[in-house]
Amino acid sequence: MDWETDLIDALEVIMHRDFPNPHRIGCPAYDSLTHPAAGIGDAQSALVVAHVRRCAPCFDELKELRTKTNAMKASHTDRAARRDT
Ligand SMILES: [Zn+2]
Repeated sequence: MDWETDLIDALEVIMHRDFPNPHRIGCPAYDSLTHPAAGIGDAQSALVVAHVRRCAPCFDELKELRTKTNAMKASHTDRAARRDT
């Protein structure tokens, strides 16, 4: 496991302990997590990230979306590299 994964795992434990939000109070729509998941830093992303810092369920969803987004980027990069060779 790399240091980034260790750090995120530790943060996840703290989020679930301190900000469980089981009733999903104030949660944005799932689709609004796609911009910060893709690394888009617009005004909407800033608002969503401000919420995610205090909401374990949204933190989990954003983490899952980031994993999917990174996997898709890696897949596109692999295909592009294979095409170029
Ligand atoms: Zn939330």
